[in-house]
Amino acid sequence: MSLQSVPQEQTTLMKTCPLCEETYKSKDICVVENREDAQLYHVTCHSCNYAMLTFVLASENGMGSIGLLTDLHADDVHRLRGKSPITHDDILTFHTLLKRNRLIV
Ligand SMILES: [Zn+2]
Repeated sequence: MSLQSVPQEQTTLMKTCPLCEETYKSKDICVVENREDAQLYHVTCHSCNYAMLTFVLASENGMGSIGLLTDLHADDVHRLRGKSPITHDDILTFHTLLKRNRLIV
């Protein structure tokens, strides 16, 4: 799914920046994933420039949201979404590679 602007009526759950309390504008918010029952948004505050990922879940009992600060840009979230997480073996392989090439002692 491509990133897109969010209609104003869908931004009421994430109305203000938790850091500077500036009211978000529609252009600050991008949809990363949009399913019938859940949406993932990337929000960059136009005032303080901090970014958040916000997961909004709707059910027959109501709506809820979870937000976390991120240093990812919206394009990064879109690009990395769906990738496998880094495993312990990946870290050990990377460490071995660095050590073999004497990039670490
Ligand atoms: Zn802000």
